[in-house]
Amino acid sequence: MKEVTCICGWTCRGTEDEVVAQVMAHGRDAHGIESTREEILAIAVEVPPPPASPAAD
Ligand SMILES: [Zn+2]
Repeated sequence: MKEVTCICGWTCRGTEDEVVAQVMAHGRDAHGIESTREEILAIAVEVPPPPASPAAD
């Protein structure tokens, strides 16, 4: 799982593809910047996945 923190404090998490898509959309909407997948992955950090929630059965 990856996490990206923007210079404005906005963060997102998800798979590599999800983070790339979210950061591209955020950069465009919030900053008017087009980011490439390479640029995004360069600032993405690997984070542990969230703990599994207990079965609510
Ligand atoms: Zn931002």
